Amino acid sequence: MNNETLRETLLFQPKHGYDRMNDAQRTEMESYCKEYAAFMDAAKTEREAVTYAVAAAEKAGFRPLAPGMELKPGDKVYRNNRGKSILLAVVGKESLAQGANITAAHIDSPRMDLKPNPLYEDSEIAYFKTHYYGGIKKYQWTAIPLALHGVVYKKNGEVITVTIGESDTDPVLCVSDLLIHLSADQMKKTLAEGITGEQLNVILGTTPLAGDDGADRVKLAVMNLLHEKYGLVEEDFLSAELTIVPAGKCREVGLDRSLLGAYGHDDRVCSFAALLPILRLGTPERTAVCVLADKEEIGSVGISGMQSQCFESFMADLCDGQKVSLLRCFENSFCLSADVTNAFDPNFPETCDKRNNSKLNYGVSICKYTGSRGKGGASDASAEAMGYVRSLFEAHNVVWQIATLGKVDQGGGGTVAAYMANRNIVTVDAGVPVLCMHAPWELVSKYDCYMTMKAMEAVYAGL
Ligand code: MN
Ligand code: MN
Repeated sequence: MNNETLRETLLFQPKHGYDRMNDAQRTEMESYCKEYAAFMDAAKTEREAVTYAVAAAEKAGFRPLAPGMELKPGDKVYRNNRGKSILLAVVGKESLAQGANITAAHIDSPRMDLKPNPLYEDSEIAYFKTHYYGGIKKYQWTAIPLALHGVVYKKNGEVITVTIGESDTDPVLCVSDLLIHLSADQMKKTLAEGITGEQLNVILGTTPLAGDDGADRVKLAVMNLLHEKYGLVEEDFLSAELTIVPAGKCREVGLDRSLLGAYGHDDRVCSFAALLPILRLGTPERTAVCVLADKEEIGSVGISGMQSQCFESFMADLCDGQKVSLLRCFENSFCLSADVTNAFDPNFPETCDKRNNSKLNYGVSICKYTGSRGKGGASDASAEAMGYVRSLFEAHNVVWQIATLGKVDQGGGGTVAAYMANRNIVTVDAGVPVLCMHAPWELVSKYDCYMTMKAMEAVYAGL
């Protein structure tokens, strides 16, 4: 063997995705990313993502899974978990006793939720008080255009859907930051303290109610606008889920248009990659399951989070149809926990181990473990599980790379992986590398989005 062959044979030398892609794949990538961008514009909250997924699933021939339903190979079913998470399955040729091929991603993203009693007036400006959801750098959410999304449950049982700030003719909302001229004290604070949670107050209006000389005329005028448009009264905020998200659409980024910028790629970029292939699936060998969960950003807790028994309920209904034990099914299942990871950022090289960090345009990132400071909270996939994914991706020509979330002592993060593994399901983390994760505007590469969708396709197909 000459030295060049020796190098080729012995050393692991990942290649840039664009050096591996042919013209047909490039066309497919562009068309996939257009569809993804449209999904992002339609789905900025978990509820909107579920609404989108239900409509797409119905169109693709999926029907709601009912207990006791008789299921045969090729049947397509789904369950809408209270409008906030969704589970889909395509029944395979093999018995569920052989296990299922599962993908699990999350459709919630960091944002600012309205407090239960949010509306107030100060100095003749009307505001919403918020409580942020998930991990955010608070200063990033000031002085940018914001939109209001959500639902309000009214006393008479009517549920009102609210969206303000997304159409070109809509007004947007905003949190103010301090002018630099008067920021002598603020500029001495840390980034964590420069803007506090209680300062994330959203400006709603400044016009007083005409012909009124009572208190809080601006607040009353704003409430009147909400009443005219949605029939709301102030007490309705108590039974609402209203949330403030960045306004605007998913856009191409870079002169070469190779990136996509949007709010909430984490983790709708993996959610869409998992959703689309299952909608197009024929009859797989093993039953294919896709879970789009809520509440990952606050610990996968609650009725719509990945720790919820809602997953058991759905899987048990599938298993019951085949007289198979749920625990046996779990024991033989495989799950790809599909969540984003950090792309290497040359602006902050000191935070990562460059040799083990994912890079833009090198394909879907496989993460053996997430967690922080000594793998705390990680699922930590076994050699066998990693080996399965390696073989699977190889067999389906999926371009992948390895990922770890930052330097060992720097921090870290979690995903739904541990909650799947706790169920006795072999689980590996994989997903799209992201720049400025959890910022109001996150960046991903089109190539990695496309490859992650190919990876999910491979999971459903199996080895
Ligand atoms: Mn995530
Ligand atoms: Mn996240």
